[in-house]
Amino acid sequence: MNILVYLEHWDGKFKKSTFELVSYAAAIAKQFQSNVYGIVLGNAETNEIEQLSKYGLENIIHIQNDVFKVLDNQLFTDVISQTVEFVNAKCIIFAHNNTGKALASRLSAKLKAGLVSGVVALPESKSPFIIRKKLFTGKATAQVKVNTEKCVLTLSQNAYGVYENSVAINKINADIKINAELCKTNLKEVQKFTAKVLLTDAEIVVSGGRGLKGPENWHVIEELADVLGAATACTRPVSDEGWRPHHEHVGQTGKIVAPMLYFACGISGAIQHVAGISSSKYIIAINKDAEAPIFEAADYGIVGDVMQVLPELTKKIKEFKK
Ligand SMILES: Cc1cc2nc3c(=O)[nH]c(=O)nc-3n(C[C@H](O)[C@H](O)[C@H](O)COP(=O)(O)OP(=O)(O)OC[C@H]3O[C@@H](n4cnc5c(N)ncnc54)[C@H](O)[C@@H]3O)c2cc1C
Repeated sequence: MNILVYLEHWDGKFKKSTFELVSYAAAIAKQFQSNVYGIVLGNAETNEIEQLSKYGLENIIHIQNDVFKVLDNQLFTDVISQTVEFVNAKCIIFAHNNTGKALASRLSAKLKAGLVSGVVALPESKSPFIIRKKLFTGKATAQVKVNTEKCVLTLSQNAYGVYENSVAINKINADIKINAELCKTNLKEVQKFTAKVLLTDAEIVVSGGRGLKGPENWHVIEELADVLGAATACTRPVSDEGWRPHHEHVGQTGKIVAPMLYFACGISGAIQHVAGISSSKYIIAINKDAEAPIFEAADYGIVGDVMQVLPELTKKIKEFKK
């Protein structure tokens, strides 16, 4: 049962989520005594590719072509499905992010393979293939049995972790046809966010809600984020009001984050917001209302005014770091 893992890169570089994916695929390969292959499309840097061997990637197929500069779901799915046949993969793994979800669903339809999205653990058995996945935006899990010969999985971020396991990496020249005419996507413009720390990658997130009262008070969020090296985030009404940019909005209709530490400041804890943060390792809530529902989701809580608590916290952390 060979495993194929799709390795997304960003301007030639991999992120922690890619190393987690490789660690996970390598663990399944060990569990089922099979081989793990990775596929990278486009101009990933050679030294970055070599880094993947640290996490247990034994075989890599790197297809370089300028056509892969733009993510086109049809073209990418076609190339990945040819690679599945080439390496005789029975289990194909993607990250549970926008790219992974778009490609995994198309690939499963093309291969007529069962799709399990948002898996959170290693398979419980090989035959039948049984695995656990997230349900109801992380509020529950389900055990799923796959009835097809091949299966396609997307792995929830931070569900498995990153484990070092150095192996020698074998570069494979695969006979894959690039059907460039399938590419229907034209890239017109790229707008880059200038955030110091990317929200979806951040280990610590400091997030604010309507309790901040207005954009003029956001400096208390930014100062705490700065001292912690954290990303900033917000609730939906905050971005709807234009207090913060939309790419900071977290929740059911925004970004899903899974940091080690999430500060919810002046946030009531509506279910639609908690859906986007429930995979955080620790949640610290600061709210002046002791009955606010956020305290049910939080690991630690401070009942108080954000405009007093946050500057004090920032000051203490600065003193501690001296
Ligand atoms: C279909 C749908 C999808 C949605 N998707 C999302 C989503 O993706 N993300 C999202 O966030 N929301 C989403 N919402 C909105 C969601 O239901 C809530 O309305 C929203 O999360 C509330 O935002 P908030 O906590 O900032 O504001 P509020 O609910 O107004 O809460 C403000 C909190 O601040 C506290 N507070 C006030 N002053 C202070 C102070 N000085 N110090 C400390 N605390 C203070 C209050 O006690 C209160 O708990 C969605 C709603 C719907 C219907």
